[in-house]
Amino acid sequence: MNNFNPADNIQDLQYFGEFGGVNPSISDSSTYTFLSAKTMFDTFEGNMEGCYLYSRHSSPSNLYLDKALAAMEGTETANVSASGMGAITPTLLQLCGAGDHIVSSRTIYGGTYAFLKNFAPRMGIKTAFVDITKLDVVEAAITPETKVLYCETVSNPLLEVADIAGLSKIAKKHNLTLVVDNTFSPLSVTPIKLGADIVIHSLTKYINGSSDTVGGVTCASQEFINSLKDVNSGASMLLGPTMDSMRSASVMKNMRTLHLRIKQHSYNAAYLAERFEKDGLKTVYPGLASHPSHKIYASMINPEYGFGGMMTVDVGSLAKANALLELMQSKNLGYLAVSLGFYKTLFSAPGTSTSSEIPLEEQAEMGLTDGLIRFSIGLDNDIERTYQMMKACMQELSIL
Ligand SMILES: *Cc1c(COP(=O)(O)O)cnc(C)c1O
Repeated sequence: MNNFNPADNIQDLQYFGEFGGVNPSISDSSTYTFLSAKTMFDTFEGNMEGCYLYSRHSSPSNLYLDKALAAMEGTETANVSASGMGAITPTLLQLCGAGDHIVSSRTIYGGTYAFLKNFAPRMGIKTAFVDITKLDVVEAAITPETKVLYCETVSNPLLEVADIAGLSKIAKKHNLTLVVDNTFSPLSVTPIKLGADIVIHSLTKYINGSSDTVGGVTCASQEFINSLKDVNSGASMLLGPTMDSMRSASVMKNMRTLHLRIKQHSYNAAYLAERFEKDGLKTVYPGLASHPSHKIYASMINPEYGFGGMMTVDVGSLAKANALLELMQSKNLGYLAVSLGFYKTLFSAPGTSTSSEIPLEEQAEMGLTDGLIRFSIGLDNDIERTYQMMKACMQELSIL
């Protein structure tokens, strides 16, 4: 995979619609006819490659998007789902059952954390939450029951970086499946290249990029995706988090500009992070030399896509953070909203929003402070102009 370029891989896919259209036709059926009864039986038994049986299992439109996402991540195949959580939960439930154990990063998406902490124990699945940047701590948490090592490439909201190659070595040594949520770093990082086994995305964020839908994907081997979709025992098939065909066609069209968007998000975020840090603000961005994982992240990325569009600044207190969020929104610098990957900048205070599932004392322990603001930097054309306007807001509130 040395010459692997995820955007070139997507570019190399060719589609022809039913009538020769440059976009594939959108499949508008929940069920499919069979010319012979025998083919129907074989399809339900999983023996008929290329036959569709029912759209909860797969549909032509979803398979097109699966193919594009598998090309991006360098996996054999993929399975799209109705949301990111709709990819994460079936994947983990397929890998683990009662009595099994997961070692997970403690700084993960709030919904994933809540699932592992509060919901998975109801199925008899326990999780140890660890500081994923300390490989010795990760390895020490592994028990004979551990089946899965789980992390985010760049964590939400603290932008900690997982050393995927290092984690992969540990996973292989202990026969674990390394599952990586790559939502914050599509194109920039290709986890499979670094030894991950399964890569997950919330398509809701950068990949779709227009904040008009939720969606998710699991990118993995054909064998694992077949198991997820198995009519008798597949967690995706049986729990039913299926993406609608209309939506998958729409997400695929947005994906065609992903490489351009990621480059611009990265350029703009790096620009602001460098200036805010120089101005004396406590700024966290993996592209800054001051970031604790800067070197390792620089060695992990496909460099042309940069260090991504996410950054945080700490403005000292929740009151100041809230005042700044409201002021920036009133100046049309972006939206006070959760989520990420939109064309406009989105900002929020994660301690009271997306990470509120995490108890306050645990937030403090992991360095999630009250005054922390998370930015998903937008596609602004003139980022110097944006910088000047943001700086003026900070000066008005005596933050700078
Ligand atoms: C948003 C997000 C999810 C959940 O995705 P949904 O599409 O909202 O279900 C999972 N992981 C990360 C890192 C996210 O940012």
